[in-house]
Amino acid sequence: MRTVTAATLGFVAFLIVSSGHAKSMDQGRAEAQALELAKQAIALRSVRGPGNQVPQVATLFKSALTAGGFDDADVTITPVDDTAFLIARWKGLDPKLKPLVISGHMDVVEAKPSDWERDPFTPVVENGLLYGRGASDMKLDDALAVATLVELKRRGYKPRRDIVLAFSGDEETTMKTTQMIATALSNAEMLLNVDGTGGQLDPEGKPQYFNWSGAEKTYADFELTVTSPGGHSSRPYEPNAINQLSAALVRIGEHKFKPELSELTRSYFAAAARYEKPQVAAAMRAFAADPTDSKAIAVLTANPATIGKIGTTCVVTMINGGHALNALPQRASANINCRIFPGHPRAQIMEELQRAAADPAVQFKDISEGSVATEASPMRADVVGAITRAIHISYPALPVFPTMSAGASDSMWFRNQHIPSYGVSPLFIKDSDRFSHGLNERIPVDDIRPSISYLVSLFTDLSK
Ligand SMILES: [Zn+2]
Repeated sequence: MRTVTAATLGFVAFLIVSSGHAKSMDQGRAEAQALELAKQAIALRSVRGPGNQVPQVATLFKSALTAGGFDDADVTITPVDDTAFLIARWKGLDPKLKPLVISGHMDVVEAKPSDWERDPFTPVVENGLLYGRGASDMKLDDALAVATLVELKRRGYKPRRDIVLAFSGDEETTMKTTQMIATALSNAEMLLNVDGTGGQLDPEGKPQYFNWSGAEKTYADFELTVTSPGGHSSRPYEPNAINQLSAALVRIGEHKFKPELSELTRSYFAAAARYEKPQVAAAMRAFAADPTDSKAIAVLTANPATIGKIGTTCVVTMINGGHALNALPQRASANINCRIFPGHPRAQIMEELQRAAADPAVQFKDISEGSVATEASPMRADVVGAITRAIHISYPALPVFPTMSAGASDSMWFRNQHIPSYGVSPLFIKDSDRFSHGLNERIPVDDIRPSISYLVSLFTDLSK
């Protein structure tokens, strides 16, 4: 945090009482703190495995919170294996109200310095972009949330309901800490996850629209296996395990899941259509009006960017079979990866695949790890209103609409506890700068100012 002299503090305090302009002036401290915290967090290599520095990231954020007015006892860091999670509680005036939980994650995906143009764990700001692993996913978001809470303390804000900041330490891998947090906070009123979605900038850097996420698809892996006694390849006989599995895979490949529309995706298609080319736009509008419109379904199915939004998709991703060049296969197996439309248990989708395979010799096994099926969160008027108002502070009249994420974020484990959960990252980015999980990850630093205004408004609106 920047050092502020007593004289400056007095000046700021004077402005707060005397002028509306003081707010943005005072907010400058939160903006500076967010950037500084983000840089310090990026410099900590919080990657799963030996030397994982998630605990140090947690300590960094805890120090900022306690320096900003949180009681030491109200900010806990819980070590779990090589990682940790952080929970900070700001007690509200009315203990009967359920808490507002603000969530994020402190871990990042591995980054190999040799592949990057700059060292991924040495943060640098260049040409208005903050570079480093975690810049967009999601150390700046974390830092913004922390700096906003400190800013609210500074302004003397008193929430009516508890505000609980919950940062997980393994979102990118096992989500063990997320599950622990979601269980511990299962009485939450709602979850605001500052990870994911956010605003879209056009190629010139002009804001186009803002998305928040109210649902995500369920990840699933199903292993299909066919076995056979095998034998010498000079004495072939049917059934052959590889032939049998191949035929089943072809039938599964031809299987179409029923297109689906939810309240949330209807709202998405209706609003997002205007940013698409005419044919896709017309199909999106037609599908939003009638999810059985076969012409619209054909267009949206043929488009990789929209096929996942109109229903469950399953695709074969791995195949394995045989054991020798001159032997009949004793075993053939394949992996089918599915992204399930919210509201369906995995078992139901597996049964549908079994019916499509139409061969009892093909054995199915759900081998999905770390994934639970979840329902879409309701489009609550208070949440929709608060997000829209918060965005319009810096971007008046900008279209704001919900979307369904491909999954899986920390929100999955909170939705699994029946907590309405919303992805609400304030960051705007161009498509050409989207490098989460990839090389040369970056985020525009110009995002910081509107993000603080947005989070201040959002957190107060939903906790007062
Ligand atoms: Zn993330």
